[in-house]
Amino acid sequence: MKWYELKSEDVERHVNTDYDQGLTSKEVKSRIEKFGYNELQEAEKPNMFLMFLEQFKDFMVLVLLAATLVSGLLGEYIDAIAIIAIVIINAFLGFFQERKAEKSLQALKELSAPQVMALREGAWSKIPSKELVIGDVIKFSSGDRISADLRVINSNSLEIEESALTGESVPVQKRVEPISGTNIGLGDQENMAFMGTLVTRGSGVGVVVATGMKTAMGQIADLLQSAETMITPLQRKLEQLGKILITVALALTFIVVVLGVMQGHDVYSMFLAGVSLAVAAIPEGLPAIVTVALSLGVQRMIKNNAIVRKLPAVETLGCASVICSDKTGTMTQNKMTVTHLWSGGTTWNVSGTGYEPSGRFYEGDKDVNPSEVKSLQQLLTFGLLCNNAELKQKKSEFILDGDPTEGALVVSAMKAGMTRKLLEEQFIIEKEFPFDSSRKMMSIIVRDTNGKRFVVTKGAPDVLIQNSESILWDQKQQFLSTRLKDEVEGAIEDLGKQALRTIAIAFKALGPSQTVYSEADAESNLIFIGLQGMIDPPRPEVKQAVIECREAGIKTVMITGDHIVTAKAIAKQLEILPENGKVIQGSELSDMTDEELESIVEDVYVFARVSPEHKLKIVRALQKNGHIVAMTGDGVNDAPAIKASDIGIAMGITGTDVAKEASSLVLLDDNFATIKAAIKEGRNIYENIRKFIRYLLASNVGEILVMLFAMLLALPLPLVPIQILWVNLVTDGLPAMALGLDQAESDVMKRAPRSPKEGVFARKLGWKIISRGFLIGIVTLAAFMIVYNRQPDELMYAQTIAFATLVMAQLIHVFDCRSERSVFHRNPFENKYLVFAVISSILLMLVVIYYPPLQPIFHTTAIALRDWLLILGLSAIPTFMLAGSLLTRKRSK
Ligand code: ATP
Repeated sequence: MKWYELKSEDVERHVNTDYDQGLTSKEVKSRIEKFGYNELQEAEKPNMFLMFLEQFKDFMVLVLLAATLVSGLLGEYIDAIAIIAIVIINAFLGFFQERKAEKSLQALKELSAPQVMALREGAWSKIPSKELVIGDVIKFSSGDRISADLRVINSNSLEIEESALTGESVPVQKRVEPISGTNIGLGDQENMAFMGTLVTRGSGVGVVVATGMKTAMGQIADLLQSAETMITPLQRKLEQLGKILITVALALTFIVVVLGVMQGHDVYSMFLAGVSLAVAAIPEGLPAIVTVALSLGVQRMIKNNAIVRKLPAVETLGCASVICSDKTGTMTQNKMTVTHLWSGGTTWNVSGTGYEPSGRFYEGDKDVNPSEVKSLQQLLTFGLLCNNAELKQKKSEFILDGDPTEGALVVSAMKAGMTRKLLEEQFIIEKEFPFDSSRKMMSIIVRDTNGKRFVVTKGAPDVLIQNSESILWDQKQQFLSTRLKDEVEGAIEDLGKQALRTIAIAFKALGPSQTVYSEADAESNLIFIGLQGMIDPPRPEVKQAVIECREAGIKTVMITGDHIVTAKAIAKQLEILPENGKVIQGSELSDMTDEELESIVEDVYVFARVSPEHKLKIVRALQKNGHIVAMTGDGVNDAPAIKASDIGIAMGITGTDVAKEASSLVLLDDNFATIKAAIKEGRNIYENIRKFIRYLLASNVGEILVMLFAMLLALPLPLVPIQILWVNLVTDGLPAMALGLDQAESDVMKRAPRSPKEGVFARKLGWKIISRGFLIGIVTLAAFMIVYNRQPDELMYAQTIAFATLVMAQLIHVFDCRSERSVFHRNPFENKYLVFAVISSILLMLVVIYYPPLQPIFHTTAIALRDWLLILGLSAIPTFMLAGSLLTRKRSK
């Protein structure tokens, strides 16, 4: 169907819809049933069985399986079956961990799925774009990604960039009129908007004519590869480290085996012991546990209103040293109320709070009727006319649909008895030049009932005053002299100092057939009318968040399009701006070279009246100075800066699709405090990963060393293969997972940010692993030797003692791993998962030792009660000896 050839009314008939009411729910349901969801087909998912088999691809696991098969054939059935059972349980565990990681990543993807504004049952509402059907009427504006193929039925300076489809990066201006001709290419169908393309300017309304694989995009992208999951820097480092660890573990194991054989142990049993040791000592589960820890952390972040779009951001968050944040809506509530008006040297106050349109006007203490003061009335009327916001009443509550700045102007006008309906009877809007944050203005061309035409502009007062040549003063139009300009600037400053956001209104008359070619044409030689000043209270939690960030070594920088005086006032209230902190304006920034900015950027806390383009320059300067920068944004033009920053943050409520796509973190509540919470969580996740790396590797070091020392001392094997594998599965597995869920240490936001270059073993982690691991090995061996010397005929008893000592030493050590300082710094019962994991491990150990049917499988015998004193005494040493010495050293300082 050539939709572009049809008139918009004909399209309405063809797709059987109603442009005023949209589709009914019943119709939508039946169309979804008939044509399916609006989705592009994704590449096939990997098969579950294959994913399970993947778990066995590890070389040492294969060797172990082969070795057990051989031992099975040689008649060691029990050993063989037990080892295979443990390997399979291990594989299941790995498989479930990976599935869980995958599932939570998928859930994340769905959470950040795009939505559209659609007209259904006569009302506009946000729906998932997946649910769009042919005939749906949708509206979109600058920053949106088009989510189906549409015939444009209303265009307001609409421009769409179609490079995803046509390769052409210059945006196409869209219009509504039909286009005739044969073989018109996609790029020339100027009344169509295609799935996957990007609205770069203006706004529009369209009717869906194709969805899913039937769209132009669906036809070229038959199979859309699902986005790859990115691995984080730590995961990459661990992968490299894994190779080294494998080599070291294999080399040590090899030495153990060779020594054992030299000391007279038989080759076969040494081989099996060696392979089991290698399987246990190689931390093959580490990457999967890291992914699980990361994705569980991500889920905790969602509860705190932050959605991580790219997993590496979780780690980078912990390194952030500067947060560059927008002011309006992120640090403030974005609930604006006009409280002051100014025109021609007079200031009026308006009463009332929030969006409720009732309040009175005062000049000093005097009540004023706005309809009796012409300039005041004009200020209010034009503020309402050049405006797209709408106030709706639901029961007794007033709800704003649209931009809060515009909403405040609607409410102030309604307090004076005006309504949009009344204005629509008097004025017809011929054209609109939409607001954009670079121009900082919006304009309309209107005609009144007498046929008089004029331009109405509203925008940032300092910009408007530059574009005005005269001003309304004493009810007359006067030349805007330097004196009058100074008066206006004084008024702007006065309002700004009270932390008010200011909007100016201006206008100019047009001839009956005068054509306005461009925005610049419309927004010049204006007549300045006056100002409306609105409060936008800071969010109450932001001040505390700024302070906490400062304590955590993170600087907060406010970047705002708002006026310098207003920005400064709010920054002071929020304690962002210190006594000697610098404030810089966008115009100064434009004049600075990159080097100049780099040299002063450390002292700047507020950037005011900036355009989105400036944000990129700021990010680069901070990064040049070695900072890890988090940058927020919402509009199309913010995307480059969001992308360039280390942690790009988009607003969930006010953010455009483009900003969200560029970001690695989305704030569901647009709130600055959420960034702080996410950073805290990011730091904690990283610390938790360090905790279980420490635990697992120290355990492995202990396991290898006990075997190595025994062989060096020409002793019998202190642990049999199945015991080693059991320790690897139970004692290492469960508590490590629980450490991944540990609570943050109380001082996690009192430390400086982590350096992104920091290695896995930084901050003494390597020393802790080796020293604790060494001691675990020594005490296990000591327990074995004491009992073996006492009862040389009962090797199995001594082995059981060694097994119990190793398990207990690890389970006590796990509590030490919870703190960067020492075991005494934290309440051991705080992490209930860990307490549960440790108790279960102990119970499972007791079952293996005391339950007769299991004893032959695990080569154990019941331990006498008095020997538990020996076991517990020895196993406490690795944790308490070093922690104790640390404590005494601290005290003596
Ligand atoms: P932030 O960057 O912190 O979100 P902001 O919302 O003030 O700050 P912009 O949206 O770029 O930044 O607005 C810049 C200025 O443009 C505002 O200070 C205001 O004077 C003016 N302005 C904002 N919204 C509108 C609008 N809808 N129409 C006309 N002018 C506007």
